[in-house]
Formats: sequence, structure tokens, C-alpha cells
Amino acid sequence: MASSNEPVNSATGAQAPSALPKMQRFIVQPQQTPAKRAVNERAADFDEIYRGFDAKAAATQASRCGQCGIPFCQIHCPLGNNIPDWLKLSAEGRLEEAYEISAATNTFPEICGRICPQDRLCEGNCVIEKGFESVTIGAIERHITETAFAEGWVRPIRPKRERAESVGIIGAGPAGLAAAEALRQLGYQVTVYDRHDRVGGLLIYGIPGFKLEKSVVERRTAWLIDGGIKFQLSADIGGATPFAELRARHHAVLIATGVYKPRDIGGPGSGLAGIVPALDYLIASNRKGLGDDVPEFESGALNAAGKHVVVVGGGDTAMDCVRTAVRQNAASVTCLYRRDRANMPGSLREVTNAEDEGVEFRWLAAPEAFLGDRQVTALRAQRMRLGLADASGRQAIEPIDGGSFTLDADLVIKALGFDPEDLPDAFGQPGLTVTRWGTLSINPTSFETALPGVYAAGDIVRGASLVVWAIKDGRDAAASIHRRLQAQAVSSMATAAE
Ligand SMILES: Cc1cc2nc3c(=O)[nH]c(=O)nc-3n(C[C@H](O)[C@H](O)[C@H](O)COP(=O)(O)OP(=O)(O)OC[C@H]3O[C@@H](n4cnc5c(N)ncnc54)[C@H](O)[C@@H]3O)c2cc1C
Ligand code: SF4
Repeated sequence: MASSNEPVNSATGAQAPSALPKMQRFIVQPQQTPAKRAVNERAADFDEIYRGFDAKAAATQASRCGQCGIPFCQIHCPLGNNIPDWLKLSAEGRLEEAYEISAATNTFPEICGRICPQDRLCEGNCVIEKGFESVTIGAIERHITETAFAEGWVRPIRPKRERAESVGIIGAGPAGLAAAEALRQLGYQVTVYDRHDRVGGLLIYGIPGFKLEKSVVERRTAWLIDGGIKFQLSADIGGATPFAELRARHHAVLIATGVYKPRDIGGPGSGLAGIVPALDYLIASNRKGLGDDVPEFESGALNAAGKHVVVVGGGDTAMDCVRTAVRQNAASVTCLYRRDRANMPGSLREVTNAEDEGVEFRWLAAPEAFLGDRQVTALRAQRMRLGLADASGRQAIEPIDGGSFTLDADLVIKALGFDPEDLPDAFGQPGLTVTRWGTLSINPTSFETALPGVYAAGDIVRGASLVVWAIKDGRDAAASIHRRLQAQAVSSMATAAE
């Protein structure tokens, strides 16, 4: 018999029978996403826009999990997180155990819970999504780890034994940091080198605070330092510090340098002042938020205040730029994308957030010319239409004859994606082979590059990708480095015994 005190699912009208098990409550319990701050409030600062779940909401939402025999959420999580297990433990209020299971497969669950495009990964493949709306997996993952930090369950890294071998990691982004943590847990002496003056890679200087507050990254940095990982910052490998020096210094080297060469736009007027690369713009904004002196921001060169801003591109970087411009009090913010909304590479959740914050989207339009004397003042755009699909299934785009329009623009931000830098040249290592896209070639199972003892992981191997994939690659590369160094240690012991 149904109890009158049980909740009723507004979508289905079903009422919970009192004997219903703790889980599978999606039948009676509607999906609830974490509260979003009101648009006028959140657009005035760079704080995260989503609030976390409280304990009750997290347990209730976790209890919606269907406990599927074949959990598609887990299959579609790049880390293979044991999602149904930690959801069940969360529903039962056993959060410390939930944390242990979550942390066993993910180095930074509180970060993935915030910024993974869940609609394309775990939640987009949740079995109950059809008809009942998915379990809010990311928000629960965030809640579990935030609770663990608050309760002191996130234990410091204390290796059982120290090992003599050292590993040098180039790049303090998620791939490098995930590898550093895994190797340090095993007792290796780990030094991470980065050309920036802060730890985090794109987590600190790319992704804005309204998606991921800087304190979340800094808390992990402090935890890694406390665990004995050494950081050498403002160290440009291939620049002031030669790559060969690092190779001689360490038993193994991991390259986790990400991809940073911005794709450019040509055409008339493309050299005018006021046309800037997306990452320069985002780094200036993030630095300003972190309290640095940023002359390019103060001069207005990388500051949208009072300007008509046009961002060209449709990925996550473009979404971060338009939403940053809104927060900097731009006079208007327009996103120009050559395909339509359905074909945007950026997460739809972020597109919706940008629309809510007042960004205007001009779909099916590409820049044709930039107008102005020395400084850009306007952009002429060509209207496009979607044509026939190519072999990959992606529709081609073609210009519409005579279809062009002009937009006011005193700041144009180019967010067309990134390519790898020429690492063999920068590192003076012609033997470091690359793919036809310029990413590093590796053995896919060992993560080793063409140079023995040199490994690579993250965006520099995959091309611009996701934080969760960088973490996965960093962890897998660390396991491979461990196997090799262990095998070398065993073989040198055997030689010594002979
Ligand atoms: C604006 C923006 C927004 C994004 N938003 C999301 C998102 O919401 N969700 C998501 O999952 N992914 C997002 N991504 C993608 C994600 O940030 C990357 O896939 C991820 O950070 C890659 O990790 P990585 O460790 O390989 O490289 P990175 O994070 O790029 O770190 C590489 C590090 O190597 C350092 N380095 C490079 N060359 C050298 C050198 N020669 N010497 C010393 N150090 C060097 C760099 O300074 C950097 O710190 C976003 C990317 C951008 C640009
Ligand atoms: S790591 Fe990302 S894909 Fe995996 S469960 Fe967490 S939010 Fe989902």
C-alpha cells in the first residue's frame, strides 16, 4: 500500500510504496539539480554558479539510482568510476565509504563533479534518463568529496616506503598532477615543472571561477605539496631549462604539457588591435581574480568593460569567454558560430547558462572581415548554411550568397581551438615523434614516447580534450612508469647478486 507521506513523482504521478527499497526511487522521486544562483547575482562576480547539495538532497538524489546490472554511467565515465556503488552508500548515509570508493578511481572527484560535461558522459548515459531524467551524478560526486574534506577523511599522501628513483613531470595540469599523486603514493621522488607561476594548468589559468573556484584547485595543490611532491614553477622546459637536463636528472620523465597554439583567423583586418586570442583573455581575467597585477587588463587591452564584444567559436573556451565578458560589464556580448546550436562542440548546459546571462548567439555565421582603422570597431560576418554530411557524418557548411551582416565590435576574441606546440623542436629532440596533428606519438598501452624512459599524457597526446581524460591518462601513465622502474630495479638487483 502506498503511504500518504511518501513523495509523489510529479512527472509520473506515482506514489512510493512504503516497502520500496532504499534505491531505485526514481519512480517516485523527481530529479533535482543543485540550486543555481540567480542570474543578476551570479553575473556580478566570478564565484561558482551552482550551490552544492546538502546532505539530505544528496542522499535523496542518490537513492534515485536504478542499480542497473550493466551500469552505462560507469561505462561512459572515462575513469570507470564505480558510480552505482557510491550512490548506494550515499543514499544510506555512508559517505566515508562512498568517498573511499570514489577516490579509488578518481584523483580529483570534486573537480570532475563540477566541470565534467556530464550530459555527454555519465549522466547522458544513465539508464533512467529515458523517461525519468538521469541521476545527478556529478553533483553527488562533488558532495561526497566536499564532505570528505570537511570531515578530514581526505588523508595526506604518506607513502609506505620511500623509493630512491625520481620522476620529472613537465606540466602541472590535471594529467601531470594525477600522475604525480599516483607516483608519490608509491614512494617515488616526484618533481613537477611548469612554466607558469601557479599549479593547475588550465584548471587555474583557463577555466574561470564561475565553473571552478580557484580555492578548490589551491586546496589540492596544498595537499600535493604536503604529500612531498616538489614543484618547480616558472620553469620553461625547452627554454631556460633544457629538456636533456631533465632527462639526465630523473629516472623517467612524463610530458604533460597540454596544447597551447591557438588556431587563428585570417582575412581582411585580422591584424587590427583589439582582436585577441581566447587564452590570453582568460589568463588575464583569472590572474586579476587571483590578485595579480595585470597591466594588459588595466590598460583595457584584455578587459571587456564597456565594450561590444564578439567571441568567435562554439566550444567550451568560447563559452568561458562570453561569460567572462558578461562579468566584466561588457556593453554587449555576442557569440558567432558557423554551425547551429545542435552542432556546437561546447556543453549544452554551458550554452544555456550563457544565454540566461544575456549572451546573444548568432548561429550559422562566420567572420568575413574586421573593420576599423588601427583598432577593430566592427566585424562583418557571412551567413552560412549546413550542407551534406561528409563520411564522418558531420554536415559541411557553405556560405549563403549575398548573406552578410555587420556587428559592432571593439573586442574580438578568437576561440577556435588549440593545436600542439612543436615539442620536438622546442625540446631539441628530433627523435620525439609526433602524429600528423602534431600531438606526441606514444605506445598506447605503455604511454612511452619514441624516446626510451620518456612518457606523455593528457592533451599533448589526445589533442584538446577534457579534464577527466587528462586524469585518466595521468594515472595510467604513472602505472606504466612504475612497472618499468620496478622491472629495472629487479633487474639491477639480479645483476648485483650475480
Ligand atoms: C578555456 C577552457 C575551458 C575548459 N573547460 C573545460 C571544462 O569545463 N571541462 C573539462 O573537462 N575540460 C575543460 N577544458 C579542457 C581541459 O582544461 C583540458 O583538457 C585539460 O586541462 C588538459 O590537461 P593537461 O594536464 O593535459 O594540460 P593543461 O591543463 O593544459 O596543463 C599543461 C601544463 O603544462 C605547462 N607547460 C606547457 N609547456 C610547458 C613547458 N615547455 N615547460 C613547462 N611547463 C609547460 C602549462 O603551463 C600547463 O600548466 C577547458 C579548456 C579550456 C582551454
Ligand atoms: S568523473 Fe566525470 S564522467 Fe565520471 S562520474 Fe564523475 S562527473 Fe561523471
